[in-house]
Amino acid sequence: MGDMRLAVVGAAGRMGRTLIRLIAGSAGVRLAAAVERADAAEIGTDAGVLAGLGGLGVTVSDNPAVAFAGADAMIDFTTPAATVAFAAAAAEAGIVHIIGTTGLSPDDEAAIAGAARRIPIVKSGNMSLGVNLLAGLVRQAARALDDRFDIEIVEMHHRYKVDAPSGTALLLGREAAAGRGIDLDTRSVRARDGETGPRRPGDIGFAALRGGSVVGEHAVLFAGEGEVVSLSHQALDRAIFGRGAIRAALWARGRAPGLYSMADVLNLPA
Ligand code: NAD
Repeated sequence: MGDMRLAVVGAAGRMGRTLIRLIAGSAGVRLAAAVERADAAEIGTDAGVLAGLGGLGVTVSDNPAVAFAGADAMIDFTTPAATVAFAAAAAEAGIVHIIGTTGLSPDDEAAIAGAARRIPIVKSGNMSLGVNLLAGLVRQAARALDDRFDIEIVEMHHRYKVDAPSGTALLLGREAAAGRGIDLDTRSVRARDGETGPRRPGDIGFAALRGGSVVGEHAVLFAGEGEVVSLSHQALDRAIFGRGAIRAALWARGRAPGLYSMADVLNLPA
């Protein structure tokens, strides 16, 4: 098999530029296409130049159909609306779709699951090895500690992040809920303000901080009587997400259609 040909959508974004740099420096993959919104100023620019490298001979395009014709996989860190459209386009083109976009609604998730009947899709709110390892540890801790330990999830991200809580915080919340055998949607507390009353035992609380250039920090606290257990992860460089996404694309090559997670890619225990 030759190099896997990767299309990066959202090429001018923070993750898009990171991916272009990583693909250029990784064995076994090459940049086949770079796609941006039709009204993006970067259309027509060389993707390598956009990412701070020399020219790569791949021009940023606003035509996904043409871009995907020469690709084996698409890596997508964009917006929920764009990702739903790209999932349909990937299914049409018969290529692997790697989804890092967060803030997806239940309807978006359903549309993506529909596309995954035709192609392999790997979707994760966090593509890093460390966070996926942390997710397993959180599930284990939640299983071991009953609801005398209150679970609170605290996250901080850079000032440009548009969704809250982060996809990673929700991923960790789902693991904690699974460990406890409860439903996150009915037991999560997303915000507190004013006269909230005492904390309900068994709820899972979220707090989101935004500021500066913080790449991503997450802590899951298990607060009991007289002791607090804290499990945490710090992302120091967004390259960890890009490397995970490239690894996911290589893993998904030639696989049966389906919706896969990073736990599948990294072969972590469920
Ligand atoms: P960003 O705003 O810097 O980049 C998004 C890019 O997508 C922009 O350049 C935008 O123009 C482009 N875009 C939007 N609609 C498009 C369309 N229809 N066609 C082509 N391009 C389009 O954002 P970012 O910081 O790179 O993050 C992007 C997403 O990835 C967010 O949802 C973020 O939460 C998520 N993210 C996930 C992980 C993970 O590991 N899963 C890690 C980091 C970021």
